[in-house]
Amino acid sequence: MPASPRTTVAVRMYNVGFGDAFLITVTQFRTVWRMLVDCGVFPAGQVRPIRESVRLIIDDLTAAAPAGQPPHLDVIVATHHHIDHISGFADPAWEKVEVDEVWVPYVEDPRDRDGKILRGQLTTAAHALVGLIGAAQQRIAAADEDSHERLRVAKIFATNSEGSDPATDRLLGRNDTTFLNKPTPRYVPDRDPAKNTISTTLPGVTAHILGPSRDPGEVKKMRPPKSVAWLKAAADERPTNADTRPLFDHIHAVPRAEVNVAVPERLRLTAAALKLDELSNAEELLAAAAILENSVNNTSVYFVLDVRGTRLVFVGDSQHGAWEHVLNNPESLALVTEPALYKIGHHGSHNATPKKYAKSILGREHYAMMPFGTVGQWPSIPEEKLITALEEAGTHLIRADKPAPGPLVTVDAHKRWSEVRFTIPATRRRTAKTQPTG
Ligand SMILES: [Zn+2]
Repeated sequence: MPASPRTTVAVRMYNVGFGDAFLITVTQFRTVWRMLVDCGVFPAGQVRPIRESVRLIIDDLTAAAPAGQPPHLDVIVATHHHIDHISGFADPAWEKVEVDEVWVPYVEDPRDRDGKILRGQLTTAAHALVGLIGAAQQRIAAADEDSHERLRVAKIFATNSEGSDPATDRLLGRNDTTFLNKPTPRYVPDRDPAKNTISTTLPGVTAHILGPSRDPGEVKKMRPPKSVAWLKAAADERPTNADTRPLFDHIHAVPRAEVNVAVPERLRLTAAALKLDELSNAEELLAAAAILENSVNNTSVYFVLDVRGTRLVFVGDSQHGAWEHVLNNPESLALVTEPALYKIGHHGSHNATPKKYAKSILGREHYAMMPFGTVGQWPSIPEEKLITALEEAGTHLIRADKPAPGPLVTVDAHKRWSEVRFTIPATRRRTAKTQPTG
């Protein structure tokens, strides 16, 4: 058997705070392939301004570029349009970076009928909610502190879901905003399943696009209300609340106003009469904003990068529905079973990593990276039960907020990033198992 070239894959998680920015570098001999997955932060949870994180990333790319050549990325993946995943792309510093491909979910494709309708609804709902929340903040008496706290959290959710037009312009090459070159966006997944296994310039390095779903029934679950009847649609389309229950441990769904995405029963009973513009109290507005947050999360690009059998699982912020779409498909399940690395969804919140995934599918002694920064109002993120389950499985947990060197893991001297590096033995070709073994 001829020896294959030695391959390494490094995943660098930038410590932006409450947001995602990951640089994947695959090296085979002298050939290098680089992918950036997301670049954004929640302003309320940042550890440094996003422009500093952008500069750091571009400095890293510049240092890695051959002399006389511009900083270069083979692929940028923008998993979904929440600002904590894309805000950094608004920065003009990207104009000096050469980018071969940009991958975004098909909801960003203006020529895709399903995507265009869904994106329009999500954006319209976000803008309307931000306006309504602002009006409620003016109207509700300051002494009602509970309501104002709900409204503040609702506004964070709704603003996050508004996205960033300058960032999306750059990613899609619109309005004269682009990179050093003008890469053509690739909208994923493709309608043709064969096109969702994407080869790279390196032999044996392949991306598998597993989500978001294009199944009409599942797209319906991502869709916010038809017109402005927000909670009516939420109640109609989610009669059992199946899409909004916490994924990790819904039996232990203790009330947490800040992340409780269930539509209150009282609202569901009266939902038929509700219109978005009639939402008035803080509880209703928070419920609506939280449903919208989930809807946008479920548009996330969910993919596996397979580097000669060493698999990296990136899920964006996929939540219930999006995960089921993957785990219910045997081929997809095999790809996400016992990976080398799992990028923990949605900053470790309770509704973005299925319990069964952490406990039995992820396997033992694997690596997991958690992009997280403290947001004072959200003490329940990350979910303690998730952390415990990962610890019990012997997972090497790498937290952006608690950088610590360890086996295969290095940390920047200024703790601005953590990196895990895998070396793929020259002739070893692990293939995905077809059944979970945990
Ligand atoms: Zn998100």
